[in-house]
Amino acid sequence: MSESPAVYSDLHLQPIAGEWRAGAAGKTLAVSNPFDGALLLEVAQANRADLDAAYAKAAAVQPQWAALGPSARAAVLHQVVAVFDRRREEIVDWIIRESGSTRLKAQLEWGAARAIALESASFPARVHGRILESDVPGKESRVYRSALGVVGVISPWNFPLHLTQRSIAPALALGNAVVVKPASDTPVCGGLLLAKIFEEAGLPAGVLSVVVGAGSEIGDAFVEHPVPSLITFTGSTPVGRGIGRIASGGAHLKHVALELGGNSPFVVLADADLEQAVNAAVFGKFLHQGQICMAVNRIIVDDSLYDAFAERFVERVKGLKVGDPQSIETVIGPVINERQLQGLREKIELARREGAEPLYEGGAQGNLLAPHVYGEVGVDMDLARNEIFGPLVGLLRARDEAHALELANASEFGLSSAVFTRNLERGVNFARQIRAGMTHINDIPVNDEANAPFGGEKNSGLGRFNGDWAIDEFTRDHWISVQHSARRYPF
Ligand code: NAD
Repeated sequence: MSESPAVYSDLHLQPIAGEWRAGAAGKTLAVSNPFDGALLLEVAQANRADLDAAYAKAAAVQPQWAALGPSARAAVLHQVVAVFDRRREEIVDWIIRESGSTRLKAQLEWGAARAIALESASFPARVHGRILESDVPGKESRVYRSALGVVGVISPWNFPLHLTQRSIAPALALGNAVVVKPASDTPVCGGLLLAKIFEEAGLPAGVLSVVVGAGSEIGDAFVEHPVPSLITFTGSTPVGRGIGRIASGGAHLKHVALELGGNSPFVVLADADLEQAVNAAVFGKFLHQGQICMAVNRIIVDDSLYDAFAERFVERVKGLKVGDPQSIETVIGPVINERQLQGLREKIELARREGAEPLYEGGAQGNLLAPHVYGEVGVDMDLARNEIFGPLVGLLRARDEAHALELANASEFGLSSAVFTRNLERGVNFARQIRAGMTHINDIPVNDEANAPFGGEKNSGLGRFNGDWAIDEFTRDHWISVQHSARRYPF
């Protein structure tokens, strides 16, 4: 066994333009543990000048980084994987302390972020251009694929390490430079920790910068800055819409990749295995306190199974342990902050006012909120229409399969979805009629694999991450033709 490395220090500083330093905004961001409020660190926030410096340096060093060649870039990504392995406990511990994740969720997130680094290590060797036929005599028609240049990455607090990594690992592997703006609740896991890891893995200075700053101070500037040619944003639909408007509706037209909110239907058809469906619904709803874009948001159950499902689901939910996320037994830890908690309390009030049937209402303490389950939820109620992002859920009764499909599609969102049936081709047939980017048969809607296309339809976003789709997203096509013999023009 190799010796454990010393834990990273100086995480209160930011890697800006090749140097770890304090931001110059003159304001401090206090980062605290959502479970007990303990102060983890204070970060001096970045301002406009810091952002300019980060983007300028990224633009300056990107060509050398891209020119390094595929093996050298792949080697850095392989080293990132090695650092993930060496520092597994340190990384998992940061995820638990900074984002209130249970140990299980933190380990899953560590695994997902490691997997996309490993997948990305293969990207440099998978990028290829094409040679096309041409109708023009003497013409050779080529399509080159190259890095976009500089990529700006904005990520949320719920899976901060992975959702930043799934942009920066492919972007860097493909020869881009990156500037990250992490969420204010999670600047360490959402950027600073990853910058330390990439630095240890041998990434040249300045190729990756992280700016921690208030959305109000540097949010718009981050997006409309002339340097980045792609902005990847993972977060809520309202903010994402604004980012899309600024990025591609202003002075500079940029590529945008938007991974936004979800409202996953979890459909249980009449021939489903009830126990399997209940187990999946419990895990797919309550992992990370329900704060996952793909989380089960609406449970739609065929009338013939509805009562049995509701009874068994509530029985299971009552047994979920709520508490300190460091404890190995804890299944439900704290929600991220007081503001989110307040929003969830309002949703509970609204569910009651709208006439949803309370099937189970757990307690609350600090930022801990025990599960709340409501039955007979109507398609127009808030619990069915909107993303919940917390440990609450509603059950909808479907008359039959056609009604279940109608309910599943009755949403402005289309990220992930799930359908349970013993007849797998019936499941595929049902899945193909759901307007969503992802559907899983006899499994939870929460699935993310480094080689499979991840993304949403409708108001859940634009673009796809992972595998070949990330190669498309983080590179550009350039058609270059070569006229070998003199061409005759009509005039
Ligand atoms: P959010 O939209 O409030 O914030 C996301 C990020 O955007 C944060 O880093 C925030 O600081 C930044 N931001 C906010 N306003 C900004 C502005 N005006 N300019 C620039 N940046 C700005 O979302 P959140 O609360 O952090 O995350 C939860 C949401 O994210 C949920 O809706 C969830 O579904 C969604 N999400 C989607 C995916 C996906 O892959 N589709 C994954 C995780 C989370």
